[in-house]
Amino acid sequence: MTNPFDLGGRVALVTGANTGLGQGIAVALAEAGADVAAVGRSAPTETEARVTALGRRFAWIEASLDTHAPVQGVVDAARERLGGIDILVNNAGTIRRNDALDFTEDDWDAVMGVNLKTLFFLSQAVARSWVASKRGGKIVNIASMLSFQGGIRVASYTASKSAVLGVTRLLANEWAGKGINVNAIAPGYFATNNTEALRNDQTRNAAILDRIPAGRWGDPADLGGAAVFLSSAASDYVHGAVLPVDGGWLAR
Ligand code: NAP
Repeated sequence: MTNPFDLGGRVALVTGANTGLGQGIAVALAEAGADVAAVGRSAPTETEARVTALGRRFAWIEASLDTHAPVQGVVDAARERLGGIDILVNNAGTIRRNDALDFTEDDWDAVMGVNLKTLFFLSQAVARSWVASKRGGKIVNIASMLSFQGGIRVASYTASKSAVLGVTRLLANEWAGKGINVNAIAPGYFATNNTEALRNDQTRNAAILDRIPAGRWGDPADLGGAAVFLSSAASDYVHGAVLPVDGGWLAR
């Protein structure tokens, strides 16, 4: 029987794959058989070593994703270097922490640019290439618990991640009929650079752990199964869904 989770022969473009969740996702997709195009501004040396050790092809496409400017070049580079894109994982993201009373325009724009604007325009560029070649594909957006909750001191992050959920649903509505699956993963609290400030704050760290039924912070490898599922034929009839991978946080 064919394995519906097999990604052999597919190319996955993963943004922000040099570290954290993006690295965990890139390695999981490679374990399932995919070659990986890692897009970002920092050299993904460790990710490259882990992906190539699995016998998969790997390309680093250097780009800063704050603006729309590099988007078409990224898609073209993936086609030139790995022959095309079958899976897009919009993972790159950033966060600014400040009281709402003190939040600046820069705090707002820096987060919305990478977390939302580039996610949309990269999805658009990849989907245009799929529609032009009359084929489908898989888009997986990385949302957050703050796609559902308000959070505190992270105004632009909450705005961006709430919007990621809305845009995921909108794109699913427009593109499901074209054979393009657009879905999201909502990670809970994972031990990465993004959450270092929280983990270093003893009070916040204890409060967060107290609410997680699994009783621990997530490890990037914990996202692998959800990423493979939403990138594979196993999810061909799944559109506009958000899959929490949160140790039970939302169930509380
Ligand atoms: P991370 O370790 O800080 O990784 C963030 C990634 O995004 C890095 O590869 C970073 O590249 C890249 N990035 C940020 N700004 C960029 C820009 N302007 N241009 C290009 N690349 C950029 O954090 P993470 O936790 O793995 O975050 C990955 C995603 O998961 C984000 O969307 C985040 O919001 C989301 N998320 C994380 C958690 C969590 O608990 N950790 C929970 C929910 C959602 P550099 O290394 O070059 O900065």
